[in-house]
Amino acid sequence: MGTETMLYEGKAKQIFSTDKPDEVRVYFKDDATAFNGEKKGTIQSKGVLNNSISAFFFELLQSEGIPSHFIKKIDDRNMLVKKLSIVPIEVVVRNIVAGSLSKRLGWEEGRRLSRPVVELYYKDDALGDPLINRSHAAAMDIATPSQLDALEETGLKVNAVLQKFLADKKLLLVDFKLEFGVPVQAQSAAPGGQVLLGDEISPDTCRFWDSTTNEKLDKDRFRRDLGNVVEAYQEIWSRLGGGR
Ligand code: UDP
Repeated sequence: MGTETMLYEGKAKQIFSTDKPDEVRVYFKDDATAFNGEKKGTIQSKGVLNNSISAFFFELLQSEGIPSHFIKKIDDRNMLVKKLSIVPIEVVVRNIVAGSLSKRLGWEEGRRLSRPVVELYYKDDALGDPLINRSHAAAMDIATPSQLDALEETGLKVNAVLQKFLADKKLLLVDFKLEFGVPVQAQSAAPGGQVLLGDEISPDTCRFWDSTTNEKLDKDRFRRDLGNVVEAYQEIWSRLGGGR
């Protein structure tokens, strides 16, 4: 890993070059932020758990015919992935009302939605990642109509696979956020090329509740100072069969 350079540092991850131009290494940090970076902290071992949990989910999705940037887990904190040019849209899929949806519509947290809701957010820290619709995305030229179709369709497919899988582990998938990008090799083909699922799928980016007690087992424990943050991430990993 000696000649690698850091290409990007985000809130919870660092991205490094590799000896292949179309592959990068993702390093998972223990740093946690919330409320657009206003709240900062460290969750001991979070990086190790999120790397394992994300690798697990990407493999599960792959086995269900949903490809992603994931190539392999390298070690405790590192994952090898295809290099993507990220589409600046966060796709949120919801099954149960929580967080910003509860605030926006005045709906009680925990209310079951009659059908999954898909939302798009424009990735822009300075603006606080505002909610946008397809028409905004088209006017901003940040995604083509067929890319937007793929984002929404993949979001719903991921939801169906994860929701079913997690139900067997006595977990409710309340909501989650996905990110997508165009593989760098395809860049020359067209900026509007086929998108691939990227980023991570972990308790940082999903809300998981215990289906018997509704106990929160995700980053809300950090956001809302509920305590036992690492324990919640560990519980998710152990329900997925981690360590066995
Ligand atoms: N989410 C995320 N990154 C963000 C915003 C949201 O991973 O920058 C996830 C969040 O963990 C939750 C879902 O997307 O699983 C919906 O989040 P919401 O819009 O309710 O926002 P929040 O309550 O986190 O502000």
